[in-house]
Amino acid sequence: MYFYDEPVFRPPSEANSLIFQATLGCSWNKCAFCEMYSTKKFSVKPQEKLFAEIEQLSAHCPGTRKVFLADGNAMVLSHAKLLAITKKLNQQFPKLGRISAYALPSDMRSKTIEELESLRDQKLNFVYVGIESGDDELLRLINKSETAESTIQGLVHARRAGVRLSVMIILGLGGRKYSKQHAIRSAEVLNAIQPEYFSTLVLSYPFGEKHFQSRVDYEHQSLSTKELLQELHLLIDRTQLEGTIFRSDHASNYLSLKGVLGKDKHELLKTIEYALSNPQVLREEWMRGL
Ligand code: SF4
Repeated sequence: MYFYDEPVFRPPSEANSLIFQATLGCSWNKCAFCEMYSTKKFSVKPQEKLFAEIEQLSAHCPGTRKVFLADGNAMVLSHAKLLAITKKLNQQFPKLGRISAYALPSDMRSKTIEELESLRDQKLNFVYVGIESGDDELLRLINKSETAESTIQGLVHARRAGVRLSVMIILGLGGRKYSKQHAIRSAEVLNAIQPEYFSTLVLSYPFGEKHFQSRVDYEHQSLSTKELLQELHLLIDRTQLEGTIFRSDHASNYLSLKGVLGKDKHELLKTIEYALSNPQVLREEWMRGL
C-alpha cells in the first residue's frame, strides 16, 4: 500500500495527475505568508523507496499520462537525481506525456541549460513557481529568498531550455502600504519572463492575521475587496505579455477571470472595472473556501 506523507499539496491543474513525493516539505520553508509545510522538516526521499513506490503504482495505473513530483520544490534535487527519477517514470509509464513540479527560481538557476533540456526531454517540461511579488522590498520583508532579478534570471533560463512555466502572484501581499509597488514591479517581472501561464491568489491567513503580522517586519494593513481589485487592475494594466494564459480562478480570488494576455487585456480590465462598480458579482466570503 502506498501512503502519502501528509499534507500533500498540488496545483489545481494537476487534479488528474499521479503524485509522487520525491522530496518532503520545502527546502526554504521560511516565507512569512506560507504555512504549507510548516509541519515538515525538508528531506529527500531515498531513491530505492521512491522507485519502489513508482513500480507499485505503475502496476495499478499503467496508462498514467501526467505525473506531479511533490512536495514544495522537488526541482531542488540535483540534475542527476531528477534524471534518474524521470527515466524511471518514463520506463514505468509508457504513455507519460508530462512531468511537473513546484520550483524556486534558484532550483532552475542551479542547473545548466543542457541539464534542463535533458530533463525536458524526459518530459519534465512544466514547473510551477510562486513568484509572489516582483517588488524587492516586499520580497525581503516576506523573507522570500529571491529578488526580482534572481527570479527573472532563473525563469528566463528555464524558458530557454524549453521548460514551460506557470507562475503565481499573491494579491494583497504587501497590504495597503506596498500595494502599488507590488502591482507595478510584479508586472515588470512578468513582462521580462513572458511565462506560458500566470495566475493570482489572494493572501490568506490560515493561522489568523495576527500570526501573519508577527512574522513580518512591517505593519500589514489588509486590503479590502475593492482595493484587491484595484491592485489586480493595476497589475494587469502594466503587463505587456505576448501570449500568456491568465487565470484568477483559484478559490481565494473574489473575481474569477480567464483570458490571454495581451490579446484580452482590455476586456479583462473592463471586467474588473465592472466588478468594482457592481460588487454583487464578486464571490461571497463563504464561497472562497478558505
Ligand atoms: S518557497 Fe514556496 S513552499 Fe517554500 S515556504 Fe516559500 S511559499 Fe512556502
